[in-house]
Amino acid sequence: MHDVLVIGAGPGGSACAYWLADAGWDVAVVEKKRFPREKTCGDGLTPRSVRQLTDMGLAGALAGAHRHRGLRSCGFGLTMELAWPRHPSFPDVGYVITRHDLDQLVAERAEKAGAVVYQGTEAAEPVLEDGDEAPGRLPRCTGALVVDRATRATRFIRARYVVVADGANSRFGRALGATRDRGHPLGMALRGYFRSPRHDDEFIESHLDLRVGGSEVVPGYGWIFPLGDGRVNVGVGLLSAEGKYKGINTSHLMSAFLDQAPRSWGLSPQVSCGPPTGGKLPMGLSVAPRVGPTVVAVGDAAGAINPMNGEGIAYGYETGRLAAACLGRALSGEGTAALDDYERQLEDAYGLYYRVARDFVALISHPRIMEACVRTGMRSQTVMGVLLKIMGNLMRGDEIGAAERTYQGLAAIARAVPGL
Ligand SMILES: Cc1cc2nc3c(=O)[nH]c(=O)nc-3n(C[C@H](O)[C@H](O)[C@H](O)COP(=O)(O)OP(=O)(O)OC[C@H]3O[C@@H](n4cnc5c(N)ncnc54)[C@H](O)[C@@H]3O)c2cc1C
Repeated sequence: MHDVLVIGAGPGGSACAYWLADAGWDVAVVEKKRFPREKTCGDGLTPRSVRQLTDMGLAGALAGAHRHRGLRSCGFGLTMELAWPRHPSFPDVGYVITRHDLDQLVAERAEKAGAVVYQGTEAAEPVLEDGDEAPGRLPRCTGALVVDRATRATRFIRARYVVVADGANSRFGRALGATRDRGHPLGMALRGYFRSPRHDDEFIESHLDLRVGGSEVVPGYGWIFPLGDGRVNVGVGLLSAEGKYKGINTSHLMSAFLDQAPRSWGLSPQVSCGPPTGGKLPMGLSVAPRVGPTVVAVGDAAGAINPMNGEGIAYGYETGRLAAACLGRALSGEGTAALDDYERQLEDAYGLYYRVARDFVALISHPRIMEACVRTGMRSQTVMGVLLKIMGNLMRGDEIGAAERTYQGLAAIARAVPGL
């Protein structure tokens, strides 16, 4: 019997396992794939992710990855370079590193701290125990029936607590009864690798005027993230609020973006490194319940992606860390009450910000509003700097500037008019 069983070794699961093992707990992780493994992602690390990786002792390991110093924002013929803001808690740099490499680094870090990581091992079914069922809570889960994907051998792994960290599709979480609230926006994204002469550009680039054919602009953005190894990660992300934009084919959007991207990147099907792959982005803490008497969900399995920018790696690390701290308290004798505190901490850390984000998404889902915002914003470095800070969740608590004041205004509206 382990103290904790973690299902999935992506950012959420590996960070949770690292912090638990670092605190001396007996942690087992099951990961259905074998590292290194491909993972569909934009591979972009913002300062929030860099902070978490640094805290896990991985600053040195990042040194080999491609470093960037900000975001180049493009739209309607205008371009603006925005450096990452100075912040007391976050560095002013980001990185681009393939998830192929990154996820292995963090899983190995967890292993070095003492976690046991069973690779090629899939959690097929939760082990459930009767009792404690309550509406709005996950059931009591004390382990999983796992399958070795090479031999098909099955066995049970039991633990006092279980962490659901199996990503956006979260089959394990669904088996426990977690569902995504369809009232929240959902992101859909597609990415591919391309060889590019600008593979070592020092800015990541986003394009805010995505459209298919002669359509109006769609809520979302196209990105070009330089990897520094001859390749760039190119993708499109689309926000679907209230089922709107569900019909848009992301492959068509990607082709349109390749045509519209600046020629200097040299993007074309001829320099593609393989067919693009896509996935869903559950955002705004849209998946619930997230807590039961012996179980918590983290990362995409909790729908933790930031709706403002589609960033999920940092939120996987952060929610994994928050969960680890609460699980440590539960194991130290506080029991279930400490897990309920995880839910409170999620609300404190992200609740209001994600409500503001939801209103923001509802607003930019109107193509004309989206276009007006981008056209206006792109004329002012100050406005775009404010937006970068708000959308990247990089506001300061110690100094109130334009971004913080704007956010406070938006938050006051979100509080006063819930579900605007
Ligand atoms: C196209 C695209 C681009 C994106 N770009 C960015 C970006 O540039 N920056 C950013 O910050 N975020 C980005 N995101 C979001 C980001 O990828 C996710 O938010 C992040 O991966 C969430 O981490 P996680 O640990 O919760 O889940 P995951 O990374 O999905 O990890 C879950 C792990 O669980 C394993 N697993 C699943 N089921 C089981 C099971 N039953 N048993 C055992 N193991 C299991 C999986 O193999 C996987 O390794 C992007 C997403 C997409 C789709």
